[in-house]
Amino acid sequence: MAGGNAIRGSRVGAGPMGEAERGEAAPRTRISYWCANKHETRPTFAHDAAIPDTWDCPRCGYPAGRDREDTPAPPKTEPYKTHLAYVRERRNDADGETILQEALAKLRGQ
Ligand SMILES: [Zn+2]
Repeated sequence: MAGGNAIRGSRVGAGPMGEAERGEAAPRTRISYWCANKHETRPTFAHDAAIPDTWDCPRCGYPAGRDREDTPAPPKTEPYKTHLAYVRERRNDADGETILQEALAKLRGQ
């Protein structure tokens, strides 16, 4: 705890000069976060700010955690999306099958 600073800050905090001084003196904490791709992000926080457990990696968008060896899992694709993609894939396969059968029929017809 920076008790001395707090007392001094409350005393000079009445005017604009006090605010400037307080802003300069505010200690900042630099926290390292690692995402699943081992990108390191080091945002700074005011010493009295709440430090979040995770931080979005600015490079790949994955969530990054404070433990380098235990990074948060990459965001999972929603089941609904996966299902849609699966149906779309199957439909494309079916189309491909039709085209293949038509091609085979032509080949056999020749
Ligand atoms: Zn990343």
